[in-house]
Amino acid sequence: MSDYIASALSRDEHFRIFAADATQTVREAQRRHDTWSASSAALGRTLVATALLAASGLKNADDMLTVRIKGDGPVGALVTDGTNVGTVRGYVEEPHVNLPLNLVGKIDVARAVGKRGLLAVTKDIGVGDPFTGQVPLVSGELAEDFTYYLAKSEQIPAAVGLSVFVNADNTIQVAGGFMLQALPGANDAELSELEANVKTLPLVSELLKSGLTPEQIIQRIAGDEPVQFLDAQPLKFACNCSKEHFGDIMATLPHAQLQEMIDQDGGAETTCKFCGNQYHYSVADLEALMPDTNSCS
Ligand code: ZN
Repeated sequence: MSDYIASALSRDEHFRIFAADATQTVREAQRRHDTWSASSAALGRTLVATALLAASGLKNADDMLTVRIKGDGPVGALVTDGTNVGTVRGYVEEPHVNLPLNLVGKIDVARAVGKRGLLAVTKDIGVGDPFTGQVPLVSGELAEDFTYYLAKSEQIPAAVGLSVFVNADNTIQVAGGFMLQALPGANDAELSELEANVKTLPLVSELLKSGLTPEQIIQRIAGDEPVQFLDAQPLKFACNCSKEHFGDIMATLPHAQLQEMIDQDGGAETTCKFCGNQYHYSVADLEALMPDTNSCS
């Protein structure tokens, strides 16, 4: 089944609840970057959060949201971005990190990411300069860090759950998450009630493994109250890179550097950090990037 994000309003439109099945998306990221368990969990959780933030915080098709996390743990930096049309992409600086399980028998994401560091979210909505909100990491487990980001930087009382189940062979069994946001008009009693529902909710990975849909997860969070479902959005890992895109960047290199690639290397290779795609540039490709050869055809 394909990934998607379900969303709904609850309690007189005082709350928005999003839930995502991101299994295929995180599988694709794991496969492309060959991540090991701790790196997979950290990148997967960040991708799920990015998808949920993009679904909740962007309005137009060209809008883009970028998440940068830099903690003091062994996975290093995490960089992801997401669009309003349900695509996400991203990478982790150190893909090959495995760690012993933590005290509750789970992948130790807090140790992998680190407990000290920064989480920054940049929104580029096409008008004006992109806006960045930045907060210190508060746990390194990431769900709490995104909850803290929403509260501090966007003044949105929220609860976030992010969950990736990694198989023994490093492949991804399931991945998903939820995001509960209080809207203007929400009162503290309602918020406490929903937060209590969230606290008793099993991990999203457990719910997905037992066959629950994102809609059913939303209903579990809403409790006995009715929910009004909005349009679901498909979700997938996708990168907008291309040979032309990297060619445009290479064309800005000094002439001498391009000439060196032609004379000494007989071509050039470039790899997209976000998706791992490799592009080869032949001597003819590189010559075509040089301003002189472009103008004397
Ligand atoms: Zn790419």
